[in-house]
Amino acid sequence: MYDIIIVGAGPAGLTAALYALRADKTVLVLEKGTFGGQITYSPQIENYPGFAKMSGNEFAEKLIDQVLNQGAEIEMETVTGIRDNGATKTVITEEGEHEAKAVIIATGVKHRQIGLPNENELVGEGISYCAVCDGAFFKGQTVAVLGGGNSALQEAVLLSEGCKKVYVIQNLDYFTGEARLVEKLREKDNVEFIMGTVISELEGEKSLEGLKLIKESDKTETELKVDGLFVAIGLIPNNGAFADIAGLDDWGYIDSDEACLTKTAGVFVAGDCRKKQIRQITTATADGSVAALAACRYIDSM
Ligand SMILES: Cc1cc2nc3c(=O)[nH]c(=O)nc-3n(C[C@H](O)[C@H](O)[C@H](O)COP(=O)(O)OP(=O)(O)OC[C@H]3O[C@@H](n4cnc5c(N)ncnc54)[C@H](O)[C@@H]3O)c2cc1C
Repeated sequence: MYDIIIVGAGPAGLTAALYALRADKTVLVLEKGTFGGQITYSPQIENYPGFAKMSGNEFAEKLIDQVLNQGAEIEMETVTGIRDNGATKTVITEEGEHEAKAVIIATGVKHRQIGLPNENELVGEGISYCAVCDGAFFKGQTVAVLGGGNSALQEAVLLSEGCKKVYVIQNLDYFTGEARLVEKLREKDNVEFIMGTVISELEGEKSLEGLKLIKESDKTETELKVDGLFVAIGLIPNNGAFADIAGLDDWGYIDSDEACLTKTAGVFVAGDCRKKQIRQITTATADGSVAALAACRYIDSM
């Protein structure tokens, strides 16, 4: 029996482990893929307070070391569900079951990908899924944003402030995001809309050099030279296994209160998988500390 089981070893889960261990709780962290979470895909982080520059791997390694030094147990297991037994919870994994007094879900999100063959190889080499994180690397350069919803439009607004040229590529003939954002972009001299168009090829071997585009209506092909591509076609929260115990909103995020408590007593949520506005390392680590301390208070009051 552990005090707290944490699902997911990204910034949120590892920070939760750090705070819980420092409060003398026993902690098991379960991770299905990459220790450190999605930040390990980032070649450079420049917006984490106190560190002017570091790679995602460097950040993840330091955090994992810090948590292991506090005595965390971290296992490679995929969690498939959580059973509520009242005072205890059973965490079900592909390998077996674990018991705890409280559980923190910190499973993050997946960025929806275009699905082109060399997309993964070019991530961090011209392809990004986050303008807040990587926009500054493209100052004075030409970039494209793929998508037509609010996230894509907001990314385009942000990029238009520093980039020479921003193309917004949308598969439909209209935007699905707010008209106010579309208007704001329309007023900018350095923004151009490419509507009813999809990307068929990512050009470049070591880094992105350009895009092949196909116009949906007549299937004509064009080429677009860009230094960067920001893919903003949606996020997929990794929350399917927790729909019953934690409750999901219409977009699949877990709703919680200010203390990161879900609808079930003793089940907390932290990081990108939670319903919130901003998904960054700072907000994930903040959630991790809040959820851990709330879980500790919950256990102490049992
Ligand atoms: C390319 C890239 C660059 C970025 N750059 C920056 C940046 O510069 N600055 C910044 O602040 N943010 C950046 N971000 C965003 C940042 O990485 C996230 O906001 C942050 O990692 C969220 O942390 P998290 O712990 O909530 O989720 P994640 O980091 O996604 O971690 C969740 C973990 O849970 C695991 N998991 C999921 N489901 C299960 C399951 N069923 N069982 C067990 N484990 C599970 C996952 O494998 C994953 O390791 C970037 C993101 C990407 C993709």
